[in-house]
Amino acid sequence: MTTNSTGNADLYGVLGVPRDASADDIKKAFRRLAMQYHPDRNKEATAESKFKEVNAAYEVLSDPEKRSRYDRFGAAGVGGAQGFQGHEGFGGFGDIFDAFFRGTGTRRAGPQPGSDLHATLTITLEEAVAGTEHELSFERVERCPDCRATGQAGATEKPQCTECQGAGEIRRVQQSLFGQFVNVATCNRCRGEGTIVSDPCKTCRGQGMRRVPVTRSVKVPAGVDTGSQMRIAGEGDHGPRGGPPGHLYIELNVAQHEVFKRVDDDLIYDLALNIAQASLGTDVQVPTIEGDPVELKLKPGVQHGEVHVIRGRGVPHLRGSTRGDLLVRTYVVTPTKLSGDQKELLRRLAESLGTPDVPEDPSVFERIKSAFT
Ligand SMILES: [Zn+2]
Ligand SMILES: [Zn+2]
Repeated sequence: MTTNSTGNADLYGVLGVPRDASADDIKKAFRRLAMQYHPDRNKEATAESKFKEVNAAYEVLSDPEKRSRYDRFGAAGVGGAQGFQGHEGFGGFGDIFDAFFRGTGTRRAGPQPGSDLHATLTITLEEAVAGTEHELSFERVERCPDCRATGQAGATEKPQCTECQGAGEIRRVQQSLFGQFVNVATCNRCRGEGTIVSDPCKTCRGQGMRRVPVTRSVKVPAGVDTGSQMRIAGEGDHGPRGGPPGHLYIELNVAQHEVFKRVDDDLIYDLALNIAQASLGTDVQVPTIEGDPVELKLKPGVQHGEVHVIRGRGVPHLRGSTRGDLLVRTYVVTPTKLSGDQKELLRRLAESLGTPDVPEDPSVFERIKSAFT
């Protein structure tokens, strides 16, 4: 690990990834290191501080905005030394724990949060531009109202577990060469609760939780793109034994549009012109994503592959109040089927024009090219 002069660790170094690592590589590196240094698994003295460092690095590098600020301004761009010290309080520790270690058999004191849920939502480009509201139906685990999540019919009092006498754990004294050990294990019969269900609730078959269909209205902000993720806090699975609910994560998919191509927040419209229109110039009505066409005046001598920018008629930026542009890309189409009259006209034109010079490479493609590659 490398450390710069202000004492902040190089975040890429912490995760052991190059500066141009993909989001996926960063996530993989984080998962591996979080597993390796998790204080519940790794009993080395330095594991906990390593674990916190890894978390702090991931928090910045997993967020494209924070990462780009960090790349440009270093630690100062993401809050500097103070920002990192904020993690000393173990903020977010619970989340990390639950995301990676739930279900591994490790038990923690206190109620556990419900699982996060993941859904995908496909919207049209028009909806992505204007913002939209969608009904989303999904299933989630909820606390059973009939037994108040106890599992016991009518939520009556549950009898004490006879295996652990209500303690929820079983202590076994073991002898070894080095002396006596007390081995404490969670009671298998009551799974640590100290009570057992003697009269199972019919609604949830004594589980206390049940899977139910849910429909929620989801507000999608203007500017989202395929791969954008939204978090609806608290709409995931309910937590067992009174734990907080998980979150609902929605991954958005913006469908391809018939007329417009989207590149980041710009829209591209391909405009075909015949050779006469391109030569003489023309006024065209360019469609927009909102439906109201915009007039574009093309001066004589339009070249194939020119890009005309109609400012502010692209997709709104997700963060901020401005919008991308509408880029009109010209296609000068050489005719392939000509009538006798047309051939005659062009023959005369060809004689009059003579052979042209090769034009200088127009760099108007750059903006689009860089976006596509
Ligand atoms: Zn029930
Ligand atoms: Zn028990």
